Amino acid sequence: MAENIADAASAGTLLEPRLPVDGVAGCFIDGRWHWPESGDKLIVENPSRRVPLAEIGRGTAREVGLAVDAATAAFPAWRALAASERGRMLSELGDRLIADAEEVARLLAAETGNAIKTQSRGEVMGAAGVLKYYGGVSVEQKGETLPLGPGIFSYSTREPHGVVGSIIPWNSPLQLGAVKISMALATGNTLVLKPAEDAPLAVLRLVEMAADIFPPGVFNVVTGLGEEAGAALARHPDVAKVSFTGSSEVGKLVAHAAADRIANVTLELGGKSPCIVFPDAAAEPHLDQTVTGICNAMRFARQGQSCTAGSRLFVHRSVWDTIMPRVAEKAAAMVVGDALDPDVDIGAVINGERYGAIRAYVAEAEAEGATFLTGATPPDDPPGYQPIPTVLAGLDNTWRVAREEVFGPVLVAIPWDDEDEVVTMANDTHYGLAAFLFTRDAATIIRMTRAIDAGWVQVNQGGGQIPGMSYGGTKQSGIGSEYSIEGALEAYTFRKCVTIAVDP
Ligand code: NAD
Repeated sequence: MAENIADAASAGTLLEPRLPVDGVAGCFIDGRWHWPESGDKLIVENPSRRVPLAEIGRGTAREVGLAVDAATAAFPAWRALAASERGRMLSELGDRLIADAEEVARLLAAETGNAIKTQSRGEVMGAAGVLKYYGGVSVEQKGETLPLGPGIFSYSTREPHGVVGSIIPWNSPLQLGAVKISMALATGNTLVLKPAEDAPLAVLRLVEMAADIFPPGVFNVVTGLGEEAGAALARHPDVAKVSFTGSSEVGKLVAHAAADRIANVTLELGGKSPCIVFPDAAAEPHLDQTVTGICNAMRFARQGQSCTAGSRLFVHRSVWDTIMPRVAEKAAAMVVGDALDPDVDIGAVINGERYGAIRAYVAEAEAEGATFLTGATPPDDPPGYQPIPTVLAGLDNTWRVAREEVFGPVLVAIPWDDEDEVVTMANDTHYGLAAFLFTRDAATIIRMTRAIDAGWVQVNQGGGQIPGMSYGGTKQSGIGSEYSIEGALEAYTFRKCVTIAVDP
């Protein structure tokens, strides 16, 4: 753990966040802040300290209805605007975010528990990068012409669906908010965004910055609970497209709601991604990069709360004794503490429920005889929801901790001998989001990248998403892709084909 929090605060090393301005924590509808009619509020907690941070409005179907009406009214003028002008506004928002990056990073660290040093600063810049990327490529909303022959001219255009309803989780709320805002607005749709109830504040700060950029109604936010505001948005008859990022369980509910009216859906869901180490990756000079890559892929510095976490580590038996002690040592050396402490590598998990769930997975594995290469079952009822980076061995791919998305810093390591065997184990999951390979052999890379069922395969690294890449999952990890202009055109527009008989 880092220094005592009170000491650090009095020494001025903990920088407190600025909350969104008074009244900003309600819903943003038709260009104005709006507290839910019910007057009901939700408390946002700082998970590092288990203290209340802010109150937000508990929007319901009523606020969702108002926001969808505003977005519907704003749609005709917004879609008619030049794409370059829509892009200019997104870029402007990205610039404003960069200008206030440090302050927003503090807010993000306080509400999510993601350490400011390793995560929150990077997330703010990543979110700004997404806004500026889509700001630039908005003009690429191109159609096709068809060579159907003389006397006939046919072409297609890319048309926005209308009102998009987007629902996001708490684990990287600003980045995901920026993705949803950018993809919907760049392509000429209007938006109603429902942030996660546990971490809506940085998104609301972004809304504050956006308030005088976009015309009223183009970009609306309804804060509230998933079963209330989220479900109302997913089933609203005037929402033409639903874009959901979150768990596979809720993704299925959202897809059912959208299916009832044949609404277009994008789903970015959970994962249990394999990380496969070949013998050559443990040789010098690659060893350090491999160990760092494995720890990055596991997202230890995000408390393991990443959909793409490479949480199943398959290490060739011949290099197990070289790789595993180093991975355990690196994980154990990370500083765990208050997310606002500038020296901390690993902050807190989002809430008591998630902390308890992670604890239960580790306790179960311990009871069933797993070996701890580092870590331990976390204590019950801690002062802050700081987890313990943990590496487990002595188990196989059938254990619950190896099959389910723990969403904590818990890495399960399993040795392998034969390539077919490791491919079978890697693919033996209902998820198909990400995968990580460590080898320098080109033939192995090509064979393995073909063999693994995943929407995103990284080789010799464990990085995050970059604007421009088409990112998305297969199997129960989702439908559609995000982060690229191609993904935006596929998911947020439909092709309109025009066929003209030309007078001879
Ligand atoms: P979650 O599914 O519980 O909640 C996500 C969002 O859905 C929240 O805003 C929540 O309020 C809302 N919601 C909850 N119930 C709802 C309902 N019945 N109808 C409509 N909306 C509802 O997920 P979470 O715990 O917030 O986030 C963690 C999950 O998100 C993990 O499974 C993780 O893998 C996944 N995730 C996926 C990606 C990706 O890009 N594939 C990215 C980040 C997180």
